[in-house]
Amino acid sequence: MDQVFDKLAEIVGKEYVSNRSEELFIYSRDMGTMPPHKPDYIVLPASTSEVQKVILLANQEKIPVVPMGGGLVLSALTVPLKGGIVLDMKRMHHILEVNAQNRYAIVEAGTPQGRLQAHLQKKYPHLKHSIPDAPPMATIAGNILIHGSGHLSQATGFHSEMLNGLEVVLPTGEICRIGSCSTSPYWFSRAPLPDLAGLFIGWFGTTGVITKLAIKLYPRPALKDVLVFVTEEADIIPDILLKIVDTEMAEDLVVVASEYPSWTRDLQLTMINITANSDAEMNFKQGIIRECLHSYAKDKSGGFIDMPLMMKGVLLETPMRTVTRFADAREGGGFEYVGAIMPVGLFPQAYQAGVEIAARHELPYSMVIRVIGRCHSLMFAYGYPFNRGDSDDVEKARQALHDSNLASLEIGAIPWKTEEPGQQLIIKQMDPETLALMNRVRSLLDPNGIMNPGNWEEK
Ligand SMILES: Cc1cc2nc3c(=O)[nH]c(=O)nc-3n(C[C@H](O)[C@H](O)[C@H](O)COP(=O)(O)OP(=O)(O)OC[C@H]3O[C@@H](n4cnc5c(N)ncnc54)[C@H](O)[C@@H]3O)c2cc1C
Repeated sequence: MDQVFDKLAEIVGKEYVSNRSEELFIYSRDMGTMPPHKPDYIVLPASTSEVQKVILLANQEKIPVVPMGGGLVLSALTVPLKGGIVLDMKRMHHILEVNAQNRYAIVEAGTPQGRLQAHLQKKYPHLKHSIPDAPPMATIAGNILIHGSGHLSQATGFHSEMLNGLEVVLPTGEICRIGSCSTSPYWFSRAPLPDLAGLFIGWFGTTGVITKLAIKLYPRPALKDVLVFVTEEADIIPDILLKIVDTEMAEDLVVVASEYPSWTRDLQLTMINITANSDAEMNFKQGIIRECLHSYAKDKSGGFIDMPLMMKGVLLETPMRTVTRFADAREGGGFEYVGAIMPVGLFPQAYQAGVEIAARHELPYSMVIRVIGRCHSLMFAYGYPFNRGDSDDVEKARQALHDSNLASLEIGAIPWKTEEPGQQLIIKQMDPETLALMNRVRSLLDPNGIMNPGNWEEK
């Protein structure tokens, strides 16, 4: 053990490797409901070459490696289920290039969302990237690798679709470039080459360590505003979303339903974010959106509500701080949500299932959905804040998450970024030939099984 520690210290410097019990304790858990597992070492590399050396050592000694960005995925995907090294990427936080003309940014894999957001606001105020509602220290890489989504996803899809290319250290130590950057000095696209990015996205760090990546940038209009449409009829939500999307006037489309505050009980609030470059454009867009839902207002199955300015400010924040506040609603630092990715038509069933599960476990229900693509799918999340100091509370949330995963699969949705027990449910339902292909790909890339073991493994 000590020899490994010394070799790791030689690679990254002794301040950046630890096996001290208090640090192992912190890295052994996240905010979610999964039980802790202690790593043996925490390692913070500063460059691709240091990542490569750590991986070569781990591969030689057959030590598990768990890559970690912000550690905010909530479903224990950065908790080392089989011990070994947690490879914390936070020192690799540099923005390497913003190519304004070709609309992409190249960043190191530990770059937090908030850092790129601030950099663009300061130096390239006409550009922005799509931001999830996770706290700003969540990394761009961690989010893309789990098929995350954010405030531009309605127009442009999952964040994984905004990835132009990446640099990755394979579990056997080779450094590969994927996308146009494998062949050109420009990181502008994954087309027209065979798309090898799929070997790394959605795999929860089980196939390699991403060290750099390029993402697409988008124009930042000068003005933004939000309209809120309220209904208590879950059945009409898919049609409402389709009608709004078809106008092509909205930037972001989110629906929330929550038992608290009490005035929102039984209501679904559709938040329609709109951007524009002039008041005239904003008024025009708002008019079109109001018009497209006119029939619902007319038959009184829903209507727009006027939001006070202060409230609008809260809804227009990117990321929305209220989401993070909700995560600690019970106090005691516990929060996990089950996201499920589903077709838009499944909303009414998913909503009903969520309300019933919350009632069964005596938890307040709280749901949020985000439209991905032009209603091509939904990210549907059931959130459960709990008090980590109260074991009954933790168990209730764990059961509710499990039931939500089961309910998602039953209706035809797929649990998103799910913890290990949820992965087992997916594996059980997956086409066996597809699962066999996944296993073959993984053992080809990682013959010694060192990368985030315990995840995406059939039990
Ligand atoms: C309050 C709150 C709100 C949220 N809202 C959203 C939201 O709106 N949209 C959304 O998409 N998500 C959301 N999330 C979920 C999650 O926090 C984000 O998706 C976040 O971006 C994950 O990034 P991270 O850096 O924390 O990843 P981590 O948790 O560090 O890692 C996620 C996964 O990626 C792997 N990984 C990380 N870095 C690398 C690397 N360099 N190489 C290989 N594998 C790697 C890890 O092993 C792990 O499997 C939210 C979370 C919270 C707490």
